[in-house]
Amino acid sequence: MNTQDIINLESRYIVQTYKRAPFVIEYGEGIWLYDADGNRYLDLVGGIAVNALGYGDLELLEAIDEQACKLLHVSNLYHTGPHVELAQLLCENSFADRVFFCNSGAEANEGAMKFARKWARENYGEGKTGFVAFTGAFHGRTFGTLAVTPRESYQAPFRPLLPGVQIAEFNNLESAVQAITGETCAVLVEPIQGEGGINPATQEFLSGLRQLCDAHRALLIFDEVQCGLGRTGYLWAHEFYGVRPDIMTLAKPLGGGLPIGAILVTEAVASVMKPGDHGSTFAANPLICRVAQIVVNRVRQPEFLAAVRDKGSYLMARLADLGSPRIKEIRGRGLIIGLELDTLANPIVQKGYAEGLILVNAGDYVLRLVPPLIIEKQHIDLLVEKLGRLLTDT
Ligand code: PLP
Repeated sequence: MNTQDIINLESRYIVQTYKRAPFVIEYGEGIWLYDADGNRYLDLVGGIAVNALGYGDLELLEAIDEQACKLLHVSNLYHTGPHVELAQLLCENSFADRVFFCNSGAEANEGAMKFARKWARENYGEGKTGFVAFTGAFHGRTFGTLAVTPRESYQAPFRPLLPGVQIAEFNNLESAVQAITGETCAVLVEPIQGEGGINPATQEFLSGLRQLCDAHRALLIFDEVQCGLGRTGYLWAHEFYGVRPDIMTLAKPLGGGLPIGAILVTEAVASVMKPGDHGSTFAANPLICRVAQIVVNRVRQPEFLAAVRDKGSYLMARLADLGSPRIKEIRGRGLIIGLELDTLANPIVQKGYAEGLILVNAGDYVLRLVPPLIIEKQHIDLLVEKLGRLLTDT
């Protein structure tokens, strides 16, 4: 099948919820992607902040090979080694005491919301069931997570949503003070908002949320699905702030391209969950858990994290040096960077393909850069050169 055949079949057989790029990706190598017509693209999207180690990582591929030959799946009715090894690795490198695995970011947040409800009910009785989330947040597309993802176009077709959700203004502590009450069981927040436009939380805001949650006996949930696991140059995005959550959700990069989500919790939260309270058939299969250990072990190395910080600062400085009048603001930390433009971002994404760049937007006016974390400075130079041209021609 050639490119056009594949595109035709997609439009004939796939539910049309995505506007895909007009080419067919065949394989990847390092930070490069290659399409079926032999074109090469510098990838600044990384499968939407997933492919932290890039494409074709040998250690990862060898582990897949080895584990696939042994055992792919048996369900959570049985013990397997990679499952508990990954849990131990995550706990020993975070605030958490225990982990629950699932299959995606939305599922992790959905599970976290269920954990919070049970925690509040067990500890404080009925009535403490509310959630607080923020403008610009993205927590997923399931019914629970959609209710805490306040974007009209996502929510409107599917109402009624989960009740009891208050939306406060992101980075406005006064607004959070109004929203968080004794009836709140949990507050969900991304330390750096991804889909909402790469908006880092302020120190005052995150510290303030911790205090408000403590005062109202509510759980603080950090959604680090996009900003966690080395993306900011810290293993966890919240480390930069020195603020600890009660629950942290992970997904995207954890499985090295395979689907996995994780809910990391304190013992106080874990202790309310009993056999039968929550579950998943596929979660934490030995193959994915084996791969995830490799991702975590590589990313958590101090040299790896220092390199992410260094490359992130370099990229931000080079972008600022462009001095493009199209760029209104450069935001982010490490290798999660947003360029707020004075023009729509999507046309630039489209034009980027002809320049050999894979880019993505985050909202209408923000160009988002979330490349594989193994990107090198020479790639950054190439990106800046091409992006400079694109912005000048726009
Ligand atoms: N939370 C955040 C911060 C995300 O960025 C995303 C996806 O973009 C999700 C949750 C949902 O993750 P998934 O698409 O794996 O369900």
